[in-house]
Amino acid sequence: RAHLEAVEALNPRLNALITVTADQAMEAARESDARRARGEARPLEGIPLAIKDLFCTAGVRTTAGSRILGNFVPPYESTVTAQLRRDGAVFLGKANLDEFAMGSSNMTSAFGPVENPWSRRNDPGTRLVPGGSSGGSAAAVAARMALGATGTDTGGSIRQPAAFCGIVGIKPTYGRCSRYGIVAFASSLDQAGPFARTVEDCAILLRSMSGHDPKDSTSARVPVPDFAAACARSVKGLRIGVPREYRLDGMPAEIEALWRQGLDWLRAEGAETVEISLPHTKYALPAYYIVAPAEASSNLARYDGVRYGLRVEEKGGDLRDMYERTRAAGFGAEVKRRIMIGTYVLSAGYYEAYYLKAQKVRALIARDFDRAWERVDAIVTPATPSAAFAMGAKMGDPVTMYLNDVFTVTANLAGLPGLAVPAGLDAEGLPLGLQVIGRPFDEETVFAVGAAIE
Ligand code: GLN
Repeated sequence: RAHLEAVEALNPRLNALITVTADQAMEAARESDARRARGEARPLEGIPLAIKDLFCTAGVRTTAGSRILGNFVPPYESTVTAQLRRDGAVFLGKANLDEFAMGSSNMTSAFGPVENPWSRRNDPGTRLVPGGSSGGSAAAVAARMALGATGTDTGGSIRQPAAFCGIVGIKPTYGRCSRYGIVAFASSLDQAGPFARTVEDCAILLRSMSGHDPKDSTSARVPVPDFAAACARSVKGLRIGVPREYRLDGMPAEIEALWRQGLDWLRAEGAETVEISLPHTKYALPAYYIVAPAEASSNLARYDGVRYGLRVEEKGGDLRDMYERTRAAGFGAEVKRRIMIGTYVLSAGYYEAYYLKAQKVRALIARDFDRAWERVDAIVTPATPSAAFAMGAKMGDPVTMYLNDVFTVTANLAGLPGLAVPAGLDAEGLPLGLQVIGRPFDEETVFAVGAAIE
């Protein structure tokens, strides 16, 4: 009830939730109370969560932040949300996001922008973005509207908003969580993961969200460890890689200082820091912005006015006319831009020059990490190149917006786990985060290092 009251008080300003499911939440909470009274509490009994509106929830509208799915009520449930319910979590509602998870600011949502709860503390005249694409999820947790939230991360959409909102978020290894029932953006990069206020809470949520699922052929058949126990592990003797290519020209001094501080903390706990090289890092962003739109243009072909959501028809129009009108009205500008880029890089004549080349670069980036794991157990970098920016900033220039993802896209291209943990404040008092990247399926080390920084 306290969380629903917080939703009622804060959501009109923050716009973090697109749909609030108060009645269902109270019903689930009553069942949780009853189970507790019987001594039958499940691992997440009664824990109130916000669910990114990219996860299909049976009987509850799922919009993907798009007009084209504005009235879509899925008849099925995503595996991740089904597992959270199985373990007793209570869903407060569906969290706002950039349209189809394309963005770094939550400004592209058809349901309006989300405000970062840290905004007014800084300067009442400047409203700040929460980051994106999982901006509603991160804002809801930071504003104490929910104890935790789900997100998805294709190029940074969990880690960047976690950093901007001063909370913890992890993108696990590709294949750790089932993608079944999550609206697809770029299938070879998309992964689900949790947001919470502490590293340990993230670990607890991730355990419920993980596991092999026969409904997703890319979900991995690997055991799910007790991630929460890993948070208490010592980092003594761990080798922490510090990639020199992440020290960008013109990087703000406070980001440098934050990074140094985090490494000092780890050394104080007995870890060893090692300078490493990931030589293909500078090609990661361009490779990502070819691969991701390519896959998106293919995934978004299904929104044809027939199978899902919106249909725009004009009397006398033919099928093609209906298709064009539906997509013209249903998709926002950023989504159209991605569809055009993706279609272009996949088209005959350009495929080899762009898409194939990007795939090769992707393999080189993955190999950089493979080599690094011979020398180090985890890698620590800044999570973002800046603190949260003002709403409207960077909107006129997509490339400047894409530069936000410079530290995060590499983990997606290589399929590796990456965690963002708050590590300090900038000169204006806004939160800054560090990122911990780990070996495939070694989230345990990532949690241990994250907990030591926290
Ligand atoms: N900001 C990146 C993009 O716009 C990543 C988004 C995401 O991870 N879903 O593609």
